[in-house]
Amino acid sequence: MMIWCVKTDTAFLAGAIMTALRRTAAGVAVTASVLCSVDAVAGEDPQADFLARYIDWAKTIEASGQDRGTPLSSTQLELAREIGIEHPEKVRLVFVDAVPFPTHDEVMREVGEDLGFIGPGITNNAQAFGYTIWIRDGFALDRPGLAHELVHVAQIERSASFGDYVERYMQELSEHGHVDMPLEVEAYAANTKYR
Ligand SMILES: [Zn+2]
Repeated sequence: MMIWCVKTDTAFLAGAIMTALRRTAAGVAVTASVLCSVDAVAGEDPQADFLARYIDWAKTIEASGQDRGTPLSSTQLELAREIGIEHPEKVRLVFVDAVPFPTHDEVMREVGEDLGFIGPGITNNAQAFGYTIWIRDGFALDRPGLAHELVHVAQIERSASFGDYVERYMQELSEHGHVDMPLEVEAYAANTKYR
């Protein structure tokens, strides 16, 4: 993900998201009878809801991108291989008015605003959903910019699942913020390396 402006007040959400992540992980094993508060039941927590819904939605975006996107050129394929993507032939570039976000869903919209994905002054220029890279029209996708997104594709490829990656991304985002989170540090290093 590459954004021009990130809200810095995401720290307050860290606790809530971390709790949500723990609940999501434990969700299957935990029953209402062992929990003392109703709002701790997985599915009734807005943050846990957000993750589950966001992952489901993101999978539909990837499927759509596979249908409508453009395969990489030979030069781009070479870059993807150099970055370590095992299946660069699966990568698709999708150019759109705005990088998608599930604003139609009130819970996802609110958490998205808190996390700095969307909101006033925030422009998401590009984002990888699985093997599909969605790019905002008007954003010049140069070699460093493409390299950045390809690193995210490589990160997704080496994750156990797209859902696992999204969960890790949200966890890191809430703990460190966009600039300092390890997944973004690795991706931004590619902006410099592949000039
Ligand atoms: Zn990024």
